Formats: sequence, structure tokens, C-alpha cells
Amino acid sequence: MAHTCIHWFRKGLRLHDNPALMAALKDCKQLYPVFILDPYLQNKACVGINRWRFLIGALKDLDGSLRKLNSRLFVVRGKPEDVLPKLFTKWKVTRLAYEYDTEPYSLQRDSKVTSLAKEHGVEVIYKVSHTLYNIDRIIEENNGKPPLTYTKLQAIVKTIGPPKRPIPAPTMDDMKDVKTPSSENHEKEYGIPTLEELGLDTAPLGEDLFPGGEQEALRRLDEHMKRTKWVCSFEKPQTSPNSLSPSTTVLSPYVTFGCLSVRTFWWRLTEVYRGNKHSDPPVSLHGQLLWREFFYTASLGIPNFNKMEGNSVCTQVDWDTNPDYLAAWREARTGYPFIDAIMTQLRQEGWIHHLARHAVACFLTRGDLWISWEEGQKVFEQLLLDGDWALNAGNWQWLSASTFFHQYFRVYSPVAFGKKTDKNGDYIRKYLPLLKKFPAEYIYEPWKAPRSIQQAAGCIVGKDYPHPIVQHEVISKKNIQRMKLAYAKRSPDTTESPSKSKGVKRKAPSIIEMIKKKAKVK
Ligand code: FAD
Repeated sequence: MAHTCIHWFRKGLRLHDNPALMAALKDCKQLYPVFILDPYLQNKACVGINRWRFLIGALKDLDGSLRKLNSRLFVVRGKPEDVLPKLFTKWKVTRLAYEYDTEPYSLQRDSKVTSLAKEHGVEVIYKVSHTLYNIDRIIEENNGKPPLTYTKLQAIVKTIGPPKRPIPAPTMDDMKDVKTPSSENHEKEYGIPTLEELGLDTAPLGEDLFPGGEQEALRRLDEHMKRTKWVCSFEKPQTSPNSLSPSTTVLSPYVTFGCLSVRTFWWRLTEVYRGNKHSDPPVSLHGQLLWREFFYTASLGIPNFNKMEGNSVCTQVDWDTNPDYLAAWREARTGYPFIDAIMTQLRQEGWIHHLARHAVACFLTRGDLWISWEEGQKVFEQLLLDGDWALNAGNWQWLSASTFFHQYFRVYSPVAFGKKTDKNGDYIRKYLPLLKKFPAEYIYEPWKAPRSIQQAAGCIVGKDYPHPIVQHEVISKKNIQRMKLAYAKRSPDTTESPSKSKGVKRKAPSIIEMIKKKAKVK
């Protein structure tokens, strides 16, 4: 039977290593590549303007690549469970294909859509390609529980073997019998909206440092992979949070949106490593991709992973509610230039270095302001180009010493930490130009500068730039004591393993099995 297929792009905004798309093309006579602007996921309040720009760029790039294959992207708006059944009927669809997505919202959505597809006699195919491994398999291999340490994850993936090799993008040959029926009205009916058409305020947008799209993702990957020595000697802790240009790859937005296949990234690294002495996980670049896998696995196996309450592995902490402190942190007004410079870079550019994320996350939570990691998670979700449900939640739990990492007595200094890699404070000068004339001696602590120096720098602390919101030396010691109390109250469930707590142990059939019942998985 020759099929009429919808390939539903959600993440996975690429043609290379797209097994669901290739499956859609098998015995296919008509292909409709669809992207749905889902109001739930694209909630304007939750998604910042930089991320919107990245998404629209990625869609344009995808449409351009599809055009080269005589196809087009169809952008539709609405809830997928409302939109897709209409398209099934309108286009007489017989097959729906998409990439497996493990976010709780996506699993529920896909389960509903799968039932609706069945009702319309539409075959459903989905494939794993957003992660290196089928993470359900990792959980199964660990007796139905997500591994809670990196070492454990490494041991499990070792038994599974290397990740699947990526598959090539479809060619004209793959498309020779396939048509995409698109009308003259395509732009009007199914075109990619501009930011303005979406009613977004584009005024805050700066230079597009990380343009969205598969072509740019592959270009960036190529550029980095040419640096054999750099790749082979990469050790994450040796990279700098405050270099003026990024000291790591900044491939994260591309991996998050699926403009770059994580398996392509992995195997390109393998090629670079071949025959060369190289660093190893957890600090190597392969190691970074395994961190991603680690948090994805945890996020699938631990209910309520993005919350403290109801999250059985998360230490329950009596965080304060302090809207003023939270706003000061979010708006780069803490009075600590290193923290404020990072938050400014985040707002302006949508990406900050991993250790910069460490510094501001520790400051907001257990280090200084004693505000819940969930609040920080929300701000990051809005402002990060790479905002990722699983990675954001997992890393915030780590940094707040709530889950995975327990050395709560190790607190980042908002002054000393940045100085280690940027004594002169050039990073602060770049992102907080009003402090740029301070001498290096005072740039991290401008409040200590004598009045004459503040005057000479043209910036009076308390008037032009705020006094420190808290006294780090004092508050961090108190907070360590508060953390100690929270740890003392931890239930054995939290301190030992999630396996003993209710709802965490997942027996096969797993979620993937649940959907498999409804869909035909090839
Ligand atoms: P590289 O060092 O070049 O690493 C290569 C790739 O490995 C990255 O692109 C990313 O896909 C993956 N990776 C690297 N570090 C981690 C990590 N710690 N955890 C998981 N995957 C990793 N990353 C996100 O992609 N989305 C998020 O929402 C996110 N939120 C975070 C929140 C906090 C509080 C912290 C501390 C970290 C967060 N991270 C998040 C992880 C990490 O900071 C970024 O992935 C990394 O900085 C991206 O830059 P890069 O691509 O240059 O990384």
C-alpha cells in the first residue's frame, strides 16, 4: 500500500539522523512534513524572545532543506490533539511518524494523539533519536530504576554497547516517488510566522549569535571537530565560565531543538578520538553527552522530576519565599558584579557557560538567597536557548544539593570564583559596562572601593549600582546550617535510593511499552 504520511516535527528539527522521517518515507506517495505551534509549549510567558527567534530560524532552515527535496514544511497552530485529526481527514492520511519524546507532557500528548490516530485508521510510527540510547532500555537494564549515579549509568551503557550510528538525511532518490502537495496559498495557510506575526516584542533582541537551524548546527559541529587537539584534551572543569567568547561548544541549543542529532555529535567525536590520546568521561565531550543521558534517564524514571514536592529523591528544604530577592537575581541587581554579569549575558544572549550556571544557581539557592531551585528553573526555562525540561530540572537539583550532589558545605563565592579565570574582570566589563572603569582590584567588589575611586569610575555604589543584596560571608554560613538541618530530616528514601520510595520503581512494561500497545513501532 502506498501511504499518505505526516511526519510530525516537534524536537528533531533536522533531516540528518531522522529515523522516523525515513520510516515515513517507506512506501510513501504523499508526504506532509508538519510542525505544530502548540500553545502549551510555546506559551509566550514561558519562552523568551531569544528562544522564539531560534525556533523560527530552525523552522525556516528546515523548510529550506525540504524545498531542496521538492517538499515543504506545513506550520499549523493549535493543540495537536485538535489539529491532527482534522489533518488526517483533510489529507486522507494513513501514517503518522514522529520522534519519541520522554517529557511528561509529550508522553501524554503522544498517547492521546496515538489513540486519535487509531480511531482514524492511521498507522503510528515513532523512533528513538533524541537521546543516545533508548532510555527506557537503560531503566530496564537497571531493574526498572533510573541509575542515580553517573558511574552506574556508565556501567549500564557499557553493557548495552555504543549508541546506534546516525543515519544519513533523505536524498532526492529517497524522494523520487514521493510528492508533497502544496498549493499557491501555502505561505498564507501553512507558512512560518514571523516574530511580529506571533505578537512578540522584538525590541530586546540583540545580535543573533547562535542562529537556529540544522545547517548552522552542522557547521558549528564541523568547526569544532576540526580542532582535534582541543577536542581530545577537552576537560570540562578546565573550561572557563567567564571567557569573552564561549570556551565550550555551544551546541546545546542545537541538540535541545534536535537541529543536531546527539548521535551524530557522539560519532563525530569518536572519529576525532580515533588513534589519538584523549580525555574520558565524565570530563570529556563524550562525557558531557553522557551527562545528558544521565539526566534524561532520571527524568523519565523519577515522578515529579521538576518539583521538590512529590519527588522522592529530592531533599525537602524549607526555601524562603522572597519575591524581591528573586527579582534582583533575575534582573541582574544583586550587587555582586560576577552574578549580575552572568544574568545579563543570559538575558541578552540566551546562553551562559556551565560553571556560570553553577555560580548563579548556587547563589540563588543554598549559597545566598535561599530561594527554591524551582524558581531558578523557571527563569532558566524562559531565558536559555537550550532550555530543556530534563536537563534544567536535573542540574538545578544538583546545584542546590537537593539531589545527586550532597556536598552542601561547598559553596561558590560570588567574588573569588570568577577571579580564578578572569582576574581583570573583563567579562564583568563586557556585560556591565557601567562598572568598566573600576580598577581590577575592585571590579568584583565595587562597594569596597573608596568614594574617590567610585567617582573616578563614574559609578557610585548605592546610586548607580546596588549594594550587595546579602553579605555572602555571613549568609552562606547560616545557609549551610539550614541545609544541615534539611539533610538531618531527610527520609531514608531520599538518602538511600529512589528504588525504595513509592512510584519510582518502574517495572517493564515501561512507558515505551505503554505507547507501543497503541502504536506500531518498527
Ligand atoms: P559542552 O560542554 O560543549 O557539552 C556538549 C553537550 O553536552 C552540550 O551541548 C549538552 O547537550 C551536553 N551537556 C553538557 N553539560 C551537560 C550537563 N551538565 N547536563 C546535561 N547535558 C550536558 N543544559 C541544557 O542543554 N539545557 C538546560 O536547560 C540546562 N539547564 C541547566 C541548568 C543548570 C542550573 C546547570 C548548572 C546546567 C544546565 N545545563 C543545561 C547543562 C549545561 O550547563 C549545558 O548543557 C552546557 O553548558 C551547554 O553548553 P555547551 O553546548 O557549550 O556544552
